[in-house]
Amino acid sequence: MFKLKNYINGELVEPASQQYIDNYDPSRGVVYSLIPDSDERDAELAITAAKEAFKTWSITPKDTRSKYLLKIASLIEEQLHELAVAESLDNGKPLHLAETVDIPRAAANFHFYGTGILHYAAQAHSVEDTAINYTLRQPVGVAGCISPWNLPLYLFSWKIAPALAAGCTVVAKPSEITPMTAYLLSEICVKAGLPKGVLNIVHGFGHKVGNAIVSHKDVPLISFTGGTKTGANIASIAAPMFKKLSLELGGKNPNIIFADCDYDKMLATTMQSSFANQGQICLCGSRIFIERSIYEKFKTDFVAKTQKLIVGAPMDSKTKIGAVVSKSHMEKILSYVELAKQEGGTVLCGGEPVNVSGEFENGYYLAPTIVEGLAFDCRTNQEEIFGPVVTIMPFDKEEEVMQYANSTQYGLASTVWTQDITKANRVAMNLHTGIVWINCWLLRDLRTPFGGVKSSGVGREGGFEALDFFTEPKNVCIKLK
Ligand code: NDP
Repeated sequence: MFKLKNYINGELVEPASQQYIDNYDPSRGVVYSLIPDSDERDAELAITAAKEAFKTWSITPKDTRSKYLLKIASLIEEQLHELAVAESLDNGKPLHLAETVDIPRAAANFHFYGTGILHYAAQAHSVEDTAINYTLRQPVGVAGCISPWNLPLYLFSWKIAPALAAGCTVVAKPSEITPMTAYLLSEICVKAGLPKGVLNIVHGFGHKVGNAIVSHKDVPLISFTGGTKTGANIASIAAPMFKKLSLELGGKNPNIIFADCDYDKMLATTMQSSFANQGQICLCGSRIFIERSIYEKFKTDFVAKTQKLIVGAPMDSKTKIGAVVSKSHMEKILSYVELAKQEGGTVLCGGEPVNVSGEFENGYYLAPTIVEGLAFDCRTNQEEIFGPVVTIMPFDKEEEVMQYANSTQYGLASTVWTQDITKANRVAMNLHTGIVWINCWLLRDLRTPFGGVKSSGVGREGGFEALDFFTEPKNVCIKLK
């Protein structure tokens, strides 16, 4: 069986333990490759390599760093199909989605920061004719980058690219549930001739090798995307060591639909924001609030459209809903459907596994699910499910829906549908989320600040915000007289 390798100091190597973890193909429910079960010994080797490489990479001209990033971007583009197939097989997502979203975005991340670093400037502050201050922006050191399984290469590269552009070196760990495209990225970096030790990729469990990276004294900054509980654990280790932290965590995003919206556009986009990637996107709108006058119409149309979504093998071009990422995740999602029923909800469609026949009969398939009749503050509406399950609820007044929308511990993203520009801006102002989409969803501009408030995270990624994170500002003051 194919064994993935760690990428340490420019070489593809086996883990110190010589132990491997099973890697599942969720569309068939079978093990199809093996992942290094790395531990603190592999983390130590990677961090030592990254520390050594930092001495030169941090002072390598930005034009040169840029060229490496652009080379990696173009190699990802050249291998788009191969990477998309790997992502789809590893994660269960429809191939079409990997080909049109995940992999192009990974290339775009390297391209964006490969060019962005060339335009990154620092400030100067003069005190009339007495003094001048300038700010030096220097790379911090070895960055620990840890990412989740839902958008594997997309999110992995969203951290690595700005870190490398800024002059940091990196020790990165992908989720052990979806490691394949991170492995292929390490092959691409070898092909691109990236100097040894600049990027190191170690595979394995979060509690083992992930924890070893987070707690290491020579890793002064951690960029983490994943669950809120894991984020809290990481913060409890990193904060007393005074590490810089960027935490992108869970969400329970509201989708607020006013009666005066462009109905057809809203309905088409709500299908996406509810079920894209099997609902496993931190930005999916899982709580849908609809103004009462259009509630029944919306319910009928939304259920009818959802029942038509084809659940099937990820590589089949007709498939709209692929497999969820693992058996345990499927069981977690189904347990929330049971909870929703216990809390008084009515399942309007879905709510059960789907049997995709033939070689896929043991895969992890779920029918897209809509639940109604729940209170805004019940557990189903407060906890992150992270699957193809949404709730729909009517509302009468703007103040009322604002209370519902802001009622969870999370504050990542929200979506608002209305043709009334004044109302849209007022609602956006009053929503407690880091991102508000008005009459759209997941329309991304990589220059914008990305991140959440409350338990959805700390700090911002995207644009120059990420370059700010991976650099330390130093004030230099010169007396002029
Ligand atoms: P987890 O928090 O379980 O894991 C994320 C990563 O952290 C994995 O690589 C994991 O490794 C690792 N990890 C786990 N424990 C530790 C530890 N003690 N120290 C260091 N690393 C550790 O999240 P999931 O992978 O389940 O991803 C889903 C979550 O990610 C959802 O909550 C979702 O909302 C959130 N997310 C947030 C986004 C955002 O931008 N805000 C974007 C996408 C997802 P391992 O897999 O081995 O456990």
